[in-house]
Amino acid sequence: MSKPVITASQIQSLQAFFGDRLQCQEPMSRYSLIKVGGPADFLVSVTSSEELESAVRFLWEEKIPFVLLGGGSNTLISDAGIREVVLINEAKRVEFIEESGQNPLVWAESGASFGGVSRRTGAKGWSGLEWASGIPGTVGGAVVNNAGAFGSNIAANLVLAEILHPLGDRVQRSEWSVDQFGYEYRTSVIKSGEKQAIVLSATFGLERSTPEKVKATISAIASKRQSSQPGGPSLGSMFKNPPGDYSGRLIEEAGLKGTRVGDVEVSQDHANFFINRGEATAGEIATLIALVRDEVNEKFSVELELEIQFIGDWKAEN
Ligand SMILES: Cc1cc2nc3c(=O)[nH]c(=O)nc-3n(C[C@H](O)[C@H](O)[C@H](O)COP(=O)(O)OP(=O)(O)OC[C@H]3O[C@@H](n4cnc5c(N)ncnc54)[C@H](O)[C@@H]3O)c2cc1C
Repeated sequence: MSKPVITASQIQSLQAFFGDRLQCQEPMSRYSLIKVGGPADFLVSVTSSEELESAVRFLWEEKIPFVLLGGGSNTLISDAGIREVVLINEAKRVEFIEESGQNPLVWAESGASFGGVSRRTGAKGWSGLEWASGIPGTVGGAVVNNAGAFGSNIAANLVLAEILHPLGDRVQRSEWSVDQFGYEYRTSVIKSGEKQAIVLSATFGLERSTPEKVKATISAIASKRQSSQPGGPSLGSMFKNPPGDYSGRLIEEAGLKGTRVGDVEVSQDHANFFINRGEATAGEIATLIALVRDEVNEKFSVELELEIQFIGDWKAEN
């Protein structure tokens, strides 16, 4: 395990600010969809956007390093755990903003389930987010990652998001329109690290339809997912698709379906999904990622780019 990054005086500030809400040595596998990850030295769950804002303001003002996690569906957490403070986003409020015209809006706190928002708007007969119905994780994770599926993505639906970002010694709250996210395929200026910011909430624009029509599209999408994507703990697509091709196709053509390192396996059903078959470790997953990248590069001269992010104390793994 690497050296602590939180000082003794910062620990005192954390205890004073968060009180009983501060958890220590919390196993991160509980917060990871692929069920790996060692202990977080310090972890706090926030249950509203106001709590999220106040926690982030405090941490930035005190210069205490932190990691914000939503559903943990796109992040590989080190076996050595996380030395920074971990904030778990459980701010889940959703409000339906009725408008008299054809374009209703839904507002959601960033810890709300993104798939849940899609299904709830669908039940009201509001169309636009059907593509998102099977995506795990939170609204915040989707906004930062420019999540997408079935030909659409966040950039097509986001109207604005409430953002918190550091500005000199101050912390500023702003509203960003979709253009300010600098969206590209599965990334944004926040994900790339070009801008430091966290998402407090997001508002999505929809169109009026009927519950029957929207639910029919959602169930067709669910059937497609069921037939094309494997079950079991995973992080979804491990790699971005290279221009004009599919990572899954390249991995399959390289003969890597079913390749296993310890308890993690390249899925037999969809080669871009790696499945935890039991007690996989983050180290095994990282080894399988490197193996697949090397083989695909050797066979097709294509460098696969990760879609997921590595989080935590990876220095301790080396
Ligand atoms: C079975 C499966 C299927 C999937 N299918 C799809 C798919 O079809 N399309 C797709 O795009 N993705 C898909 N994914 C990937 C994943 O679900 C999405 O990327 C999702 O949007 C990530 O959200 P999360 O809350 O889990 O993010 P996390 O893994 O918790 O975090 C991801 C990153 O976002 C940052 N972050 C999280 N919340 C905030 C916030 N409020 N403010 C600032 N930064 C934040 C984190 O710090 C981290 O850097 C799939 C994953 C799985 C497991």
